[in-house]
Amino acid sequence: MDEKYKKWKGVERDKINWAPSVDTKKCNGCGLCVTSCGREVFDFDIQLKKAVVSRPSVYDWLYIL
Ligand code: SF4
Repeated sequence: MDEKYKKWKGVERDKINWAPSVDTKKCNGCGLCVTSCGREVFDFDIQLKKAVVSRPSVYDWLYIL
């Protein structure tokens, strides 16, 4: 990796958890993230009525950039 890309905002890229998360206290269950994420990271938990991160590893590519 090119030296200039090894850090993101001053932090080593391999020290960052790139996976998205859902703050269940703030999630209102609108489902926008489920329907709009082109990488299909989210699913909708019918029982919880909230989005959940089902495929966090699809964001591993961010580490490569
Ligand atoms: S369903 Fe997704 S977009 Fe809607 S509030 Fe919850 S986390 Fe945000």
